[in-house]
Amino acid sequence: MDRFSGKTVVVTGGNKGIGLAIAERFAAEGANLVVASVEEQVESAANRLRNSGAGAIGVLCDVTNKAAVEALYDRAEEAFGSVDVSVQNAGIITIAKIEDLTENQWDDTMDVNTKGVFLCCQEAIKRMRKSGTGGKLINTASGQARDGFIYTPHYAASKYGVMGMTQSLAKEVALDGITVNAICPGIIKTDMWAYNDRVWGELLGDYSPGELMEEWVQNIPMKRAGEGRDVAGLVAFLASDDADYITGQTINVDGGLIMS
Ligand code: NDP
Repeated sequence: MDRFSGKTVVVTGGNKGIGLAIAERFAAEGANLVVASVEEQVESAANRLRNSGAGAIGVLCDVTNKAAVEALYDRAEEAFGSVDVSVQNAGIITIAKIEDLTENQWDDTMDVNTKGVFLCCQEAIKRMRKSGTGGKLINTASGQARDGFIYTPHYAASKYGVMGMTQSLAKEVALDGITVNAICPGIIKTDMWAYNDRVWGELLGDYSPGELMEEWVQNIPMKRAGEGRDVAGLVAFLASDDADYITGQTINVDGGLIMS
């Protein structure tokens, strides 16, 4: 399939985990990729995409920094001429009991997960409006935008924020031919869960690596954790012409974990 041939796709947090799986899916379908993250590792992710035959660049970009986000979209246009799809995937999580949750943890989480999505959407919309050819924005929320988990009020708030922002922006840019949708991954096997295992383990009891995720997986009707490619399939659909009449929606991709 080459549904995205000639299109340019920006993926923040595209160097690993869900973001890399999304980038790989778009690369396999003919897109040019601009992957962004805060680690040098982003260049090896771009290399891997180029080796698969795609056009790809890696850009160091902290999504909480407005100037860096502007530069990211400048680089995308310089390299490939346009920005057609922008996937706001970068995110962080920390876990703490309410009496231990610090202001810094709150601010950092809101900065990356919510403000970062705002800054990237703002810049992508500017470019898409200028080109006049429309575009697709996909924002990564979380199952926690549906049902906040224990010990993560800051993360849940940041992801609810993404859902509200998605709806508001969808209304503002609908007549520009730009759709804005959000996704709610459930339990997806990535480094984020390696982190969860360690920290939740400390808070909730004596878990060994992997155990906590396996326990939570028992609540999933499909009884398996998701893979990056499960999320990538939904993102590619939302970015495709088949989703032209879908906007302002927040869609779960979680094996049935949450059904609202
Ligand atoms: P990972 O920890 O594997 O990846 C997170 C990515 O975000 C990394 O590429 C990281 O870059 C990037 N990132 C973090 N901070 C910044 C920043 N300030 N600027 C730019 N990039 C940044 O996590 P996942 O792949 O699991 O998560 C991807 C998204 O999916 C997140 O938004 C997360 O909240 C969401 N999600 C994940 C779920 C899961 O079960 N895994 C469930 C629900 C939602 P670097 O490596 O350079 O630090």
